[in-house]
Amino acid sequence: MSDNPDIRQAVVDTARRMYDIGLVVGTAGNVSGRQADGSIVMTPSSVPYVDISVDNLAVVDLDGEPVSGTARPSSEKAMHLACYNAFFEVGGVVHCHPRYGSMFALARKPIPVCIEEGIVYVGGDIAVSEYRMTGSDELAAEVVRHLGDRGAVLMANHGLLCVGHSPEDALHTAEVVEHTARVAHGAEALGGVVPLPAEIVESFANVYGLIRSGW
Ligand SMILES: [Zn+2]
Repeated sequence: MSDNPDIRQAVVDTARRMYDIGLVVGTAGNVSGRQADGSIVMTPSSVPYVDISVDNLAVVDLDGEPVSGTARPSSEKAMHLACYNAFFEVGGVVHCHPRYGSMFALARKPIPVCIEEGIVYVGGDIAVSEYRMTGSDELAAEVVRHLGDRGAVLMANHGLLCVGHSPEDALHTAEVVEHTARVAHGAEALGGVVPLPAEIVESFANVYGLIRSGW
């Protein structure tokens, strides 16, 4: 988990960057972080990114009950909370609708992670979770099923969810995933992605596991 004492500011900064680099449009997507006391700070529902500040974030416990403030947490809070409940090491969660990653989610095709550094940051190919309705507990359970040894999962017909040791780290993973989806999409036009040798994939996946065990 992150040792950043100011998780609120990290959530605000990460949410703004996610919007600025085009991983979401409008008020879509959401960002959260785990505070040292175990509570979860989350971007509010339906507030434009330019208006999000440390003063209007939602703070909830691991059951989703409000801890402080009056801000309504994102309607997609269940999948954030499921990640924190399932993985004690996770300190940040980012959900976004990136252009290329979403193409794979709509086609329900996994993203082949065929770049060494991609495997180090994500753990390997990025699966597509089964379709479940937005905001449902069923979607939360389905998404978490894929994140035990991965930093990212695609949500069928929807978008991308990434976990990290902090909100910033989860966003970095989202950027790596989007880059990988983009070049994999392009490689398809050039005859298809050539996989890395299996032993290389295994070796770098082990590095991901090692890094995550230190979160
Ligand atoms: Zn969404």
